[in-house]
Amino acid sequence: MTIAGQPDRGGLADRFGRTATDLRVSLTDRCNLRCTYCMPAEGLAWLPRDEVLTDAEVVRLIRIAVERLGITEVRFTGGEPLIRPGLVDIVSAVAALDPRPGLSLTTNGIGLDRLARPLREAGLDRVNVSLDTLDRGRFAELTRRDRLPDVLAGLAAAAAAGLRPVKINAVLIRGVNDADAIDLLRFALAGGYELRFIEQMPLDAQHAWQRASMVTADEILADLRTAFTLRPDPAHRGGAPAETWLVDGHSARVGVIGTVTRPFCGDCDRTRLTADGQVRACLFATEESDLRTALRAGATDAELADRWRAAMWGKKAGHGIDDPAFLQPVRPMSAIGG
Ligand code: SAM
Repeated sequence: MTIAGQPDRGGLADRFGRTATDLRVSLTDRCNLRCTYCMPAEGLAWLPRDEVLTDAEVVRLIRIAVERLGITEVRFTGGEPLIRPGLVDIVSAVAALDPRPGLSLTTNGIGLDRLARPLREAGLDRVNVSLDTLDRGRFAELTRRDRLPDVLAGLAAAAAAGLRPVKINAVLIRGVNDADAIDLLRFALAGGYELRFIEQMPLDAQHAWQRASMVTADEILADLRTAFTLRPDPAHRGGAPAETWLVDGHSARVGVIGTVTRPFCGDCDRTRLTADGQVRACLFATEESDLRTALRAGATDAELADRWRAAMWGKKAGHGIDDPAFLQPVRPMSAIGG
């Protein structure tokens, strides 16, 4: 069944003229860190195992997205995707699709020292590693785990395996690691990593996010400018979430993802698949479309593609964080796939 005006073939268009070509796939809602701005110390009620898509089901849905729906980029995320046992095989199956999509992964880096090379050999192109501070004590405080050396080893292994550009994602929390931005940028420049700061979003499981305590894109840039000269990057941004700047007149870049204060919804080209097979049109969507039940009930590729198109046709114009009626999605970031 199609909604009025919705195309019944072709790509993932919405009513506001956007077409999604970038698919974020969550491979698990579980994680081996407990970042304070993401999850409570005791973790969450994880998805029952039988609700999580099998490797074959994930690969089938990605194949449909690539072959029938115009997806050209696939990013694996979570939870922590490196703890999914079938990850290397999933990457290898997706890399064999025709047309072959670009393949990337967002990870906390733990275990990447061991997995970077097999993932590269399986066809992974790039990684983003999350790292919020270089101070071991603060890292342990923020993530509730003393794993900074593992993350640093993972970053080095990713670069050595050729998973380039290796990007670093950092979230700054006021009063905790907001003084670490300059050190993080120095570290990234020295190591050849591309650093991007992400504004803290209202997607924490604890619903503790407050606009007033969020470190804004403007504050981050002002802080960086006390130590570096930043020039706007002339490269075309397209649908990329990060606004980027050239650092000290060199080709090295730093990016800021200002989801809250500098929203980029008008250029959004993303669609999301959760680990339990739900399509989401937006990180902040309050509705999901259930592909898993249809898939397990025997739906054809064409029927699943139709459901996916319908879900995206209903995508809202913007995330609505500034709307007084904004409601935080029921699922936290770790269960949606960041
Ligand atoms: N475990 C992987 C990782 O650490 O990159 C992938 C999932 S994690 C949810 C993806 C990214 O979302 C991480 O960079 C993390 O710091 C970020 N993140 C989590 N909660 C966030 C929040 N409330 N606001 C902004 N970013 C958040």
